[in-house]
Amino acid sequence: MARIGVLKEPTGGKLTVLTPSGAERLKGKAEVLVQRDAGRAAGYTNKAYEEAGATLVDSEEALLAGSDIVLSYGYRDLRNRKIQGKTFIGIFNFLWQPEHVGHYLQPGVTVHSLDLIPRSTLAQSMDVLSSVGSISGYQAVLLAAERSLATVPMITSAGGTLRPAKFLVMGAGVAGLQAIATARRLGAVVKAYDVRKASKEEVESLGASFIEIEGSVDDRTAGGYATQQSEEFLERVRQRIHEEAAGADVVITTARIPGKRAPLLITADMVNGMKPGAVIVDIAAATGGNCALTEPDQAVVHNEVTILGPTAIESSCAYSTSFLLSNNYISFIQYLLEHQEELDSDPILGATLVVRDGRSVNERVLALQGAAQ
Ligand code: NAD
Repeated sequence: MARIGVLKEPTGGKLTVLTPSGAERLKGKAEVLVQRDAGRAAGYTNKAYEEAGATLVDSEEALLAGSDIVLSYGYRDLRNRKIQGKTFIGIFNFLWQPEHVGHYLQPGVTVHSLDLIPRSTLAQSMDVLSSVGSISGYQAVLLAAERSLATVPMITSAGGTLRPAKFLVMGAGVAGLQAIATARRLGAVVKAYDVRKASKEEVESLGASFIEIEGSVDDRTAGGYATQQSEEFLERVRQRIHEEAAGADVVITTARIPGKRAPLLITADMVNGMKPGAVIVDIAAATGGNCALTEPDQAVVHNEVTILGPTAIESSCAYSTSFLLSNNYISFIQYLLEHQEELDSDPILGATLVVRDGRSVNERVLALQGAAQ
């Protein structure tokens, strides 16, 4: 029976990728080891893990020694640990930091990075990026509402009528759509823009208006993701967004391109044109940000506009995010255990496989490593 170990996130990390109910689901299929307090910051107690049949271990070293498959949320620097022969599963973001792959190139090591899961129907239940995106979009709106000097819904009261806040959402992928839905539930008037024309219908179905700008490049081979646009087109977008941002109380930016710096959509000049008291929440901050003034994990106040750049916004609802991630990880693990003989040929396992037997094997990551040399 496989021995699956759950690493505790480093200090400050709140998420766990296996909840007690997740451990329960693995009963009979795998032996589960959990590093003590791995779920504590997310609201999952050590006792709950024990009741679910998991074994608690006290240190990272003991966890690694006792596990064949090691689960973590993000990349972990384990260069000083004995990791030979182990399989690592996590959201390692090698497309953004390909240099981290080198840390796993030890005999017999296998690494699957779940951010590389294909966006297919078969892999939907394993789609960690959608889980993180949904929570991030939701939380971005709450963060903005809390910082805003104005209320979000229309409120009619003895003192008069407060008009609904105007939200502008940039990027209508999973996070952007959840931000739109949340802002609409709070009563905001929402406009949204995405470079993918296909998102227009989804934006409109949530009761927001779609900002149309002609001339974007859609790439059908990009698996539904956005492709990099020409600087000329991005300039045209900026001109139009300049006008839209000037009227907004809140701007939420979520635009990303896998493996690339996030596109710059909100310039300092645009921020200068915004209303005093307006709020920008830039959830693309971890990959460079969509706003020129974003500072990762800082609140920047520029010309009376507050710009927030949270890099781990999904951690603020750690209980819920961990619940979703645990389900995604279990789906992946079950699939892996059933199909491990087909590591290279299977479309899901092949796409996520980055290190095999201590060698770097993922074409997308290798291309980036080559480009960086
Ligand atoms: P993402 O996080 O990579 O990017 C967020 C959004 O930013 C995307 O919608 C992207 O088009 C947009 N963007 C990029 N550059 C931009 C620019 N210059 N201006 C404005 N917007 C820009 O995206 P995501 O949320 O991971 O979604 C990517 C795709 O995957 C979408 O087509 C989504 O519908 C699809 N998807 C499919 C499945 C599935 O089939 N199982 C699951 C989830 C998502």
